[in-house]
Amino acid sequence: MNYKDLANLIFPDVKDISYYEEKYPKRNLKEGAIVTRFAPSPTGFVHIGGLYQALIARKVATQTEGVFFLRIEDTDQKREVENGITDIVNSLKDFGIEPDEGMINETEEKGNYGPYKQSLRGDIYKAYAKYMIEIGKAYPCFCTPEEVEEIRKKQEAAKVRPGYYGVWAKCRNLTVEEMAEKIKAGEKYIIRFKSPGREDRKIKHHDVIKGNVTFPENDQDIVIIKGDGLPTYHFAHVVDDHLMGTTHVIRSDEWLSSVPLHLQLFHEIGFKAPKYVHISPIMKNDNGNKRKLSKRKDPEAAVSYYAKEGIPGEAVKEYLLNIANSNFENWRRQNPTEDIEKFDLQLNKMSVSGALFDMVKLLDVSKTVISRFDAEKVYNESLKWAKKYDEELTNILKEDKEYALKVFGIERGNKKPRKDIAKWSDVKENIEYMYDELYYAKTKEYPYQVINKKDDIVKILDLYLKKYYDENADKQEWFDKIKELSGELGYAKEVKEFKANPDKYKAHVGDVSTVLRVALTGRTNTPDMYEIMKILGKERMAKRFEEATESL
Ligand code: GLU
Repeated sequence: MNYKDLANLIFPDVKDISYYEEKYPKRNLKEGAIVTRFAPSPTGFVHIGGLYQALIARKVATQTEGVFFLRIEDTDQKREVENGITDIVNSLKDFGIEPDEGMINETEEKGNYGPYKQSLRGDIYKAYAKYMIEIGKAYPCFCTPEEVEEIRKKQEAAKVRPGYYGVWAKCRNLTVEEMAEKIKAGEKYIIRFKSPGREDRKIKHHDVIKGNVTFPENDQDIVIIKGDGLPTYHFAHVVDDHLMGTTHVIRSDEWLSSVPLHLQLFHEIGFKAPKYVHISPIMKNDNGNKRKLSKRKDPEAAVSYYAKEGIPGEAVKEYLLNIANSNFENWRRQNPTEDIEKFDLQLNKMSVSGALFDMVKLLDVSKTVISRFDAEKVYNESLKWAKKYDEELTNILKEDKEYALKVFGIERGNKKPRKDIAKWSDVKENIEYMYDELYYAKTKEYPYQVINKKDDIVKILDLYLKKYYDENADKQEWFDKIKELSGELGYAKEVKEFKANPDKYKAHVGDVSTVLRVALTGRTNTPDMYEIMKILGKERMAKRFEEATESL
């Protein structure tokens, strides 16, 4: 009896690995092309950190004319939820991340290196596990969970490292005959890797983000095939990323400490190891303490949060690039309208310790991103959001699209577009004063500023409508009229003039404008008042001034 016989006894029906090696040939890509993947478990929750990894992986693959694929890691079937894969696919899509290969819904996939769902790859893992046994690098282990627990207790008492290794690895030294006998007798077993490592030796490794790291060698005989016949993460990682031709494993840095094991597995099975890119978690400043974004504590940890809030995928993506590479901000300043695809992301410039996630900054980025959208896009996106979350807004937007486009068009499409919308859930509040049904339904406090006496306000509003408002005026003429109005009522026509002679005037043209703005919209801050007036028209203005006057 030799290793080969043992392997045949354990896996009588699996194919030789040469079959798979031929079936999945080396990818024919240009020199330097990077092949990456996103490999989540379908647990029903996509974390912003996962999206971040996927974005980075997609980006570097695109940049190098490589391939990015989606692999579903469902070997821990206890954690699975219904529609878990579709959730992942749709979440990526919401952020414009489209894999070149991989699962596209619960059951279908695209690409030539599948199946892209691990639970469908059972025969492949078995073939490679069989090969490992044949070459003497894996063995069946008959220890029951109780025995393994027993070993752990002894290790604890002896104050040595826990695990299945060296002298503790009981089954490692069984003879092939003994193993075969146990199998024939029907004893249960799992398959373990036969580690050649020694804990007192060190390995040096270069991680693309973390740089040079040194670890003790792995000496654990880890499980590669579990009792349910499925592989462990470690073994599936090695087999899949080998067969699928991954060049760069981009994953969370919680896996960094497994690198010695993974490199050893690649080496022992005889495959070229990929490069490792361990991404630090996204951090949050919590009252001065830097901590990981937590699924439990932080709603913004779930990617579903952004859709609910109506923060555009483009904005989240742009913000994530911001925290990925600190030179992004500079690039954006120099290329304010360029597609982010043009930005050259560098993996080795990513943060070693964990990028800080700042919601205020994200919303700021979002304002700028939305400011670059045209009115039609703002309309469509707001409506899409509203249809899910706000019926009133949906009705308003649908009732008169032409009018809505005018409203969204205020100060848009010019050199310095308005930046007042950070998320679609802000839209209603933002355009409220352009819709009478919303405007009058609200009880308003008119926040008058410098000019705040009833008489003064009434005079300004009256005279403006009677004498100075001209619907056909262009913007310059329109403003000149407000100056004239100011002059007639004893206010300074120029701010400069007012500053030079503050005692001579009650206030200046800016203060007069504020009165008009507040009476018209109920607020001190709006985009361009000239455009607002044009869209509202004289009749509606008059009605608003009337209401404003009455409430004085
Ligand atoms: N399924 C693993 C996880 O979600 C994937 C890690 C990897 O990308 O290799 O943590």
